Amino acid sequence: MTHKIKWKYLSIIFGFILVSVVVQTINANIKHQKHLESQVQSLGVDAHLYFQDLIEGLTDKYLMLSLHYAYEPHMTPLMQTRNHAGLLSYVQADYDRLRSMESNLHTMHFIAPDNHTILRLHQLDQYGDDLTEIRPIVRDVNREKIAMHGFEVGKNGITYRITTPLINQKQEHLGVLEFGVRPNYFVEKMVDRFNVESMILVESTSLGKLQTTYGFEGLNGFSIIQQTPLFKELASLVNLKRQSQLLNYQGRTYLVLTSLDQPNHKGEVVSKVVIATDITDIQNENQHSLLAESILNLLVLLFLWMVIYIIFSRYTFALENSYDTIQALHLKSHQLRTQANTDELTGLYNRRFFNESLQKMLDYGQTGTLLFFDIDHFKQLNDAHGHQVGDEVLVEFAHMLTGFFRQDDLIVRWGGEEFAVFINNMPEAEAYQKAERFRQFVETSSNNHQPYVFTISGGVAAINSTRRLDDAFKLADARLYQAKETGRNQIIGSFNQTTRPADKEV
Ligand code: GH3
Ligand code: MG
Ligand code: MG
Repeated sequence: MTHKIKWKYLSIIFGFILVSVVVQTINANIKHQKHLESQVQSLGVDAHLYFQDLIEGLTDKYLMLSLHYAYEPHMTPLMQTRNHAGLLSYVQADYDRLRSMESNLHTMHFIAPDNHTILRLHQLDQYGDDLTEIRPIVRDVNREKIAMHGFEVGKNGITYRITTPLINQKQEHLGVLEFGVRPNYFVEKMVDRFNVESMILVESTSLGKLQTTYGFEGLNGFSIIQQTPLFKELASLVNLKRQSQLLNYQGRTYLVLTSLDQPNHKGEVVSKVVIATDITDIQNENQHSLLAESILNLLVLLFLWMVIYIIFSRYTFALENSYDTIQALHLKSHQLRTQANTDELTGLYNRRFFNESLQKMLDYGQTGTLLFFDIDHFKQLNDAHGHQVGDEVLVEFAHMLTGFFRQDDLIVRWGGEEFAVFINNMPEAEAYQKAERFRQFVETSSNNHQPYVFTISGGVAAINSTRRLDDAFKLADARLYQAKETGRNQIIGSFNQTTRPADKEV
């Protein structure tokens, strides 16, 4: 019983623990997923900031240089007279030094206020041509007289251009100085800084003739003008409309960020830098720590369950013990109660219990008849065969009583060789008949059990509303006495009693 209960509760606890492990694992999974996402996001933010820094650094550097040239006293006459050779000899050394510092610096270009080229340091033999139609940024800077920058296609390919008006100290507009940096500059810096794969894209329509000249690969309206080796494989899988995306390629996972936009001098997105980083190891690491965390959770919870199991086992053991003790006590008290109520030799009720029970029955309004029996010449039997045999006869007689009378009749060893029976709910005449039959039964049975022959005498008295208990006892006892006096082996009731003064009905 307690065993069943124990396992029921232990199963419930185990169920709880299992649910909690599952919840913990799901929770850990979500946590790791979020962690990965935040890592990805912070990479995106870092890359974006770095890209902005690159642009600003580049712009600042060449803008300062251009301002410096504008303020040089020699510059004004050289520009105003469009002195190609003079300008060249004046800036050649600077150009070489700048290029040695930044190999991706490609163009350095002086242009007159009317958009005609004065000097291309990257292409010395080409000058004097008009750029008004083909180079919007140059035209706009000459017109607006403010610095502009952005990717733009020129005669010598696509470059990131920092285009600055040359305005001398007298506020005379001398024309434009333009530096151009190859797109590879951005790719290389990104690779250096983040150890990422990178590609740079320029809006296809802005490429004009160059698109057909170079046959750039297209992607969502952009042309890939530069890319690291991995992107040669990955590029076709990239979706530019998504700011970040995960790509699986040859068993590894790449995070691709496409949000590094670069507007042109009018603020239109004309180019993009796309970077991809291999996050397979981060993912694996996350998965391993997730697995480790789950196993740890499981172990802790199993340990907890074991502790509960042990406590539970001890508790149920104590419970079982006390259950057994209570059972034993119950049995003992039952035995004691029985002992207190019964006669030791015959197992019949004793006089105390008989009186109590009878009184209770009468209190509830019961009626019936009281029979007194006494074994005749029992002293002689004792003397002839010994006390032991006497005892055996008493036990035998008790069996006869319990065998003959009904279950709900009260049978008692009144004391010595005297016995009483209360026949519940039976009038005296009928009870007398029954007592007489019993006397005959004893006589014949004991005859069959030689050599212990014995007979009994009896007295009968009804108990009803007019005759209470004490009177009935006295009367039955008197009639028994009369039976002895008048020859024994007989039952005396109201029907056959002689009317001697001593036997008068009470
Ligand atoms: P009567 O026919 O007049 O009843 O004669 P009796 O000998 O049966 O009556 P008496 O009262 O003279 O003797 C009763 C005897 O019963 C005396 C006593 O030794 C014996 N006796 C009483 N209790 C026990 C008992 O528990 N065991 C045995 N063996 N004998 C008992
Ligand atoms: Mg007797
Ligand atoms: Mg007697």
